[in-house]
Amino acid sequence: MIEVDLAIVGAGLAGCALTHCLGRNGFDGSTLLIEAGRGPGGRASSRRHRGDLIWRLDHGAPALNFSAPPQGGIAELLQPLLDQGVLVEEQRPLVWLDGAAQRIDGPPQGLSYAGSPTMASVCEALLAQAPGRHQSVFGCRLRWLERSSGRWLLANAERTEVFAAKRLALTGTLLAHPRSLAMLAWGEPPLRTAIPIGADPQLDAALQAIAGIEASVRWNWMLALPAIEIKDCPRQIWLIPQAQQRWGIERLVLQLQSDGRLGLVVHGLDDGQSITPESQPALLRHHEQRLHAALPEVLQPWPQLQHALEQAESYGVMRWGAAVPTAGGLPAELQWCSKSSVGLAGDWILGPGYGCGEGALRSAMALAEQLKLA
Ligand SMILES: Cc1cc2nc3c(=O)[nH]c(=O)nc-3n(C[C@H](O)[C@H](O)[C@H](O)COP(=O)(O)OP(=O)(O)OC[C@H]3O[C@@H](n4cnc5c(N)ncnc54)[C@H](O)[C@@H]3O)c2cc1C
Repeated sequence: MIEVDLAIVGAGLAGCALTHCLGRNGFDGSTLLIEAGRGPGGRASSRRHRGDLIWRLDHGAPALNFSAPPQGGIAELLQPLLDQGVLVEEQRPLVWLDGAAQRIDGPPQGLSYAGSPTMASVCEALLAQAPGRHQSVFGCRLRWLERSSGRWLLANAERTEVFAAKRLALTGTLLAHPRSLAMLAWGEPPLRTAIPIGADPQLDAALQAIAGIEASVRWNWMLALPAIEIKDCPRQIWLIPQAQQRWGIERLVLQLQSDGRLGLVVHGLDDGQSITPESQPALLRHHEQRLHAALPEVLQPWPQLQHALEQAESYGVMRWGAAVPTAGGLPAELQWCSKSSVGLAGDWILGPGYGCGEGALRSAMALAEQLKLA
């Protein structure tokens, strides 16, 4: 059993930035990052495809949006990545479509950065360049949390992987939010089970705030298109609300592959059907079929893309259970619950950049500061 000073759950932007910032802040304890996925990135990760060695697709966030030019601590965090070319300011224009699939002028693109060569590169670099004593475990979805004799015990569903830590940091809401109950058929959020009501009033308040967070679901359909020349190929094609309602699509994201092929991610909106382990396979098929039917119409302004669809290969649909928080959030003063030794970070912490990559990074920096003082 690995035993550390701090276990960090989740290797998305918040978890990787937390590991990085702790090391830079001189946190002298050992840290362990535990992630359910196969690599770092979380919702800002990039998909590979079995049997297609060069294929990389940013199937979640295609960019990191910023509310204002980074300054202070966040600028210090990002500057090395900008200098190394891992983060690149997005210059490609956003394109907008109306309800008749006509190109229109939309709001100007705010400040946004893309990972290079892929979005996953950002988390990979934060982790690789994190100073200090840290290790990572990938492919382990934690299901059980237990607080016993002043330490945390963490385990997967089968309890074949067990970790112990003096302190715990959660960067996803899965172990704390009731959404896991329906989607994964769990009885109670594991963090609630671990600390009984009343034992830590600050954690009670945090869990209550987390339970109120609403997040949107996305069904992202991934496609491989043959190599085609498109003048001023846009990175993102956004649909205005009327168009989103008509086709159930939020935006299209295009990504040139190193061999000239084009990756396309259709960000499909949810239509409210209940998602359970049993209903999920049929829902994945349903969304692929409806996006398949809608896409030729949406691509009317790009006849070459429409034509390329005939030779497109489907690489499946990715369901993002909590793609972007849309309402509610955790007040920043509840990020560190000292009595239970639990820290919380992620884009669902209230403050600048809420719901975006910026918020995930900022919340990690704030938690790293609190852990230094704890
Ligand atoms: C489709 C989509 C489009 C987006 N577009 C944009 C955009 O254009 N601009 C922008 O700025 N942001 C965008 N976002 C939001 C952005 O991706 C997030 O704000 C950011 O990536 C959140 O990082 P995080 O570390 O807070 O959370 P996450 O990336 O979700 O990281 C949490 C990690 O914890 C892991 N985890 C959770 N529970 C467990 C467990 N029990 N055991 C082990 N591991 C666990 C998860 O696997 C995940 O990797 C988009 C998101 C999606 C899904």
